[in-house]
Amino acid sequence: MSSAVPFIPGDSPPQPGPFSRYLPPLPQGIAKAWLAEHLSPEARHEGWVLDPFGASPSLVLEAAQAGCRVLVTANNPVARFLIEMAANPPAKADFLAALAELSTSSRGEERMEQHIRSLYNTECAVCGATVMAEAFFWERQAPAPYARQYQCTSCNAKGEFPATNQDAARAQQFTTVGLHRARALERVAPPNDPDRIHAEEALSVYLPRSVYALFTLINKMDGLRLPPARRRALEALLLRACDLATTMWQVPTARERPRQLTIPPRFRENNLWLSLESGIDAWASLSSSLPLTIYPEAPPDSGGICLFEGRLRDLCDQIRTDKEISLPIKAVLTALPRPNQAFWTLSALWAGWLWGREAAAPFKGVLRRRRYDWNWHTAGLFSAFSSLAGLLPPDVPILGLIGEAETGFLTAALVGADMAGLNLTGLALRSGTELAQLHWQTARQDRQDRQETISRDEADRLLRQAAANAIEQFLKIFGAPAGYLLMYTAGLEGIVQSGVLRRRALQPPKTAPELPSEESLIQEEVEASPPDQFSYVQNAIRDVISFRGGYLRYGATDSPETGFWWLRSPEGSAPPLPDQVEKFLVTRLVRQGKCRFFELSRALLREFAGLRTPPVELIQVCLESYAAQSPTDPDEWELRPQEIPAARRQDLEMVTRQLVQLAELLEYTTEGKFPLKWLDAHGNTQYWFYPIASAVIGDLILGKSLPSPSPGERSIIVLPGSRANLVAYKLRHDSRLRQLCATREAGSPDAEQRHGWRFVKYRQVRSLLESPLLRREKFDDLLNLDPLTYAAPQMRLF
Ligand SMILES: [Zn+2]
Repeated sequence: MSSAVPFIPGDSPPQPGPFSRYLPPLPQGIAKAWLAEHLSPEARHEGWVLDPFGASPSLVLEAAQAGCRVLVTANNPVARFLIEMAANPPAKADFLAALAELSTSSRGEERMEQHIRSLYNTECAVCGATVMAEAFFWERQAPAPYARQYQCTSCNAKGEFPATNQDAARAQQFTTVGLHRARALERVAPPNDPDRIHAEEALSVYLPRSVYALFTLINKMDGLRLPPARRRALEALLLRACDLATTMWQVPTARERPRQLTIPPRFRENNLWLSLESGIDAWASLSSSLPLTIYPEAPPDSGGICLFEGRLRDLCDQIRTDKEISLPIKAVLTALPRPNQAFWTLSALWAGWLWGREAAAPFKGVLRRRRYDWNWHTAGLFSAFSSLAGLLPPDVPILGLIGEAETGFLTAALVGADMAGLNLTGLALRSGTELAQLHWQTARQDRQDRQETISRDEADRLLRQAAANAIEQFLKIFGAPAGYLLMYTAGLEGIVQSGVLRRRALQPPKTAPELPSEESLIQEEVEASPPDQFSYVQNAIRDVISFRGGYLRYGATDSPETGFWWLRSPEGSAPPLPDQVEKFLVTRLVRQGKCRFFELSRALLREFAGLRTPPVELIQVCLESYAAQSPTDPDEWELRPQEIPAARRQDLEMVTRQLVQLAELLEYTTEGKFPLKWLDAHGNTQYWFYPIASAVIGDLILGKSLPSPSPGERSIIVLPGSRANLVAYKLRHDSRLRQLCATREAGSPDAEQRHGWRFVKYRQVRSLLESPLLRREKFDDLLNLDPLTYAAPQMRLF
């Protein structure tokens, strides 16, 4: 039933490089690890890996580097170009030669480089010399730039300066109706083309000067007779310049991931000659050399990439009509595409500009669509997955990666795949990274249960029941309040596993309001489409999570998706996940004495799989609490000598003795060991001390409410100082525990007022014994002198 699988972390961060702001942010090393597990060397030799979307060049590259023949279907010409560049970029010498040729070509009386540079001339604010601006800064819809950035070659003044009237006049020389603009539109949609108006809208993210510069350069490239490698190098430089020429570069610079064609309030106009020059190093960061063929030519058995220019559906049609073709596909590995109006629309423009109208034609339809919603995406993914299910033999493993997981995306993917007949075999999601990994397998046989019909009401009831059961089971093993994405995904997984989406749920057709109601009644019922099912599933899970009386909710705001949810009746649930992780990690460290971060992290990911995948930060804080990094090998960690169990037992005995001494100094009597109670002269307990060696506090705090209704915070956990950061981490991430504790982060407004459990470090007990201020009435204040504060570790990502 449960499809929890270990999360595959990868081994290095996502590949930077041109266009990465539009590409899925996937760590590297995932493909390699997954293929090692799912595709034997023989299968790699005999068969192919299919990427039906081609959305991530680095993923394709990695599979090919692992020795696979990777067939990629990609309809977007720019996506195909990026894959070609990733596989086999031109040599740096080709970039340099191509740019040199462009630079020295003539433009009227001038050389091209001189001409383009002069478009960005400005006068130095200090010495008055004419210099070339690196960029101008604009406010959206303003007629002229407000600032410029340059480094003066005469007086060395550099930085940002207010723009002048001359800058305004220069920018306004370029009109929005020029010849170059006409050319830019012509190459995508000629005047009689119904998409013309959409191409014009798309072009509005370009300033006239940028269109002029780009088309002066593109026209010149068309006239140059370059050898193929240099031509490709120049196309790559110009493609990157096309991106840098948009007005979608926010000021101040932010790490944006644009999804809509929207112009930020303040943006940067890049100098396009400098953009060409900087492109050489940007593209040179890619350095592989892999065989790449165009379908149907096959790459060698040793591995490589085969590009199919078109959609998966087109490939399936070709295979169906041509019986000669045999494609033994052994695995499917893909980054699921995320609707990106910005990248798709710009790709249609750029493809037309660089490669002509015919090249852009099959992809041009994206210009028409301004908004993409997840319902629409569900239909698209359903169609693609249906093609896959029809193309592939049974039991082919499929890994779908989502780089920026959110509920709509996950729902579209899981609903689309399930309705298409793919079996979900695993799911893992790591909080803090938003990376989701979805595992499917093609079905053994056609599922019969789709024939079974149920009513819409019954289907909705089953959806809610499946989501509610799955969420409850998840929270019980998670042991702590969970955020919305985890709650939702648990419910979604439960719905898919229940099989309810595979049953034919009929619903009345959507009636036009003008129809009399009797007529709408006699219309035939229809089966829910994938976009309909998307909405039913989404509503069911939302209802379950937001049902009043269903869950406890912490940290809620007006938004229905903020805060953390926890069970009203938590009986039988596991200890909080961070406590479980700590115990596992310590057991292993104590047994082995030392460990490699990489191995430890993998062992933890195997033990805590699926939606329980521990965040990297937790693993690191936990490790830092008990172990020290080797000075010579940063990947090796060794249990600190004071953390050896025998040493910690001695510490516990010592601190217990010190607590007894302290009680005597304050004229309390003591009783018991855990808790160690302090009693006053009347025999009433005033303090309860719980000396521990770990940071495993969940069971202690949750299992025992405060033992007395006294006004102070009289329940005190005594722990080693090295555990303080780990406890602080746990309290930060568990609002339920935090509510039961008096400890607040220093400076927080309610730090003084909270009643509840307190934490005292061993060393504090020792210093209290020596404190000249020690008196009963001062004791509480003295205890509060050394509060827990959280210091985030310097993160390593894998
Ligand atoms: Zn100057």
